[in-house]
Amino acid sequence: MTANDSVILVVDDDPLNVKLLIGILESAYEVLFALDGPKAVELAVQEQPDLILLDVLMPGQNGYQTCRQLKAKTDTRDIPVIFISSLSDHEDEAKGLNCGAIDYISKPVNAAIVKSRIGNHLELKHARDLLKQQATIDQLTGIANRRRFDEFLLQEWRTMQREAKPLSAIMIDIDYFKPFNDHYGHAAGDACLSKVAKIMNQVISRPSDLLARYGGEEFVCVLPNTDRDGVEHIAENLRDAVQALAEPHNKSAVAHVVTVSLGCATTIPTSDQLLSNFINSADHALYRAKERGRNCVMSHPLIDDTGDG
Ligand code: GH3
Ligand code: MG
Ligand code: MG
Repeated sequence: MTANDSVILVVDDDPLNVKLLIGILESAYEVLFALDGPKAVELAVQEQPDLILLDVLMPGQNGYQTCRQLKAKTDTRDIPVIFISSLSDHEDEAKGLNCGAIDYISKPVNAAIVKSRIGNHLELKHARDLLKQQATIDQLTGIANRRRFDEFLLQEWRTMQREAKPLSAIMIDIDYFKPFNDHYGHAAGDACLSKVAKIMNQVISRPSDLLARYGGEEFVCVLPNTDRDGVEHIAENLRDAVQALAEPHNKSAVAHVVTVSLGCATTIPTSDQLLSNFINSADHALYRAKERGRNCVMSHPLIDDTGDG
């Protein structure tokens, strides 16, 4: 995203001030506005603007309170807030910055100064977003990394527990990958990992699901709101998609092409269950898939969503 695609949310109870700021900004940015604090928070959550210009003095919920709310919510805390206020002594400015705002601009505003300060803050915001995104992506394969997986799994574990819905996971491991590396070389091994990740990511098409590189030649898939039949179906699709890649593997004892083994686990999380046990169950099922001959799917027999497994 370039700075020019940026969305700015202007919050001021005085429509004339809103109009003035829109006039200054609309040639360079998309501008949204709200006339009070609660509406501003609602819009910020919904629209995820890149920057918020916030008035301090507003009837009802003032700017400081609004800023604190924005900074307390995970989905809005990273949106930079700039106060625009007629209060101009140092104490007011300090109070604004203490609430988590990134800058403080006094009214009456100077168009050129507002524009260039906003430009600077947006540039920093986009650099931060990029860094954050890179920190969650596996460099080799371009899919989510282990860190993102840990974060996502915990979040979905809690959500499924709250909603009493099934959570599924699949542990995936490439078959005979050490012989593949030994025979074709490490660079070919890397290229293979990347191809396998990409084809599996195409199978995992629901936006609520996540495929991540777990480490080495192991991958993991997290499927919220998915029961045992659902996860087994997806695991079989993953197995099939990797085999259909038809990546030659002369040193595999199970096929002439690269294949994967998969282990599934499903549970409706409860407060007395351990998240680590859930992942261990999927790992155990993977181990059994290896034992069974590889290039196949196994499910953990003890944990399921129906209680009859
Ligand atoms: P199995 O069928 O039981 O899974 O056997 P395997 O040979 O795949 O399993 P093992 O765990 O013994 O070997 C995994 C190999 O994966 C070791 C290493 O050569 C390779 N590997 C791990 N990470 C990478 C990587 O990032 N790039 C490449 N090229 N190879 C990797
Ligand atoms: Mg392995
Ligand atoms: Mg392996």
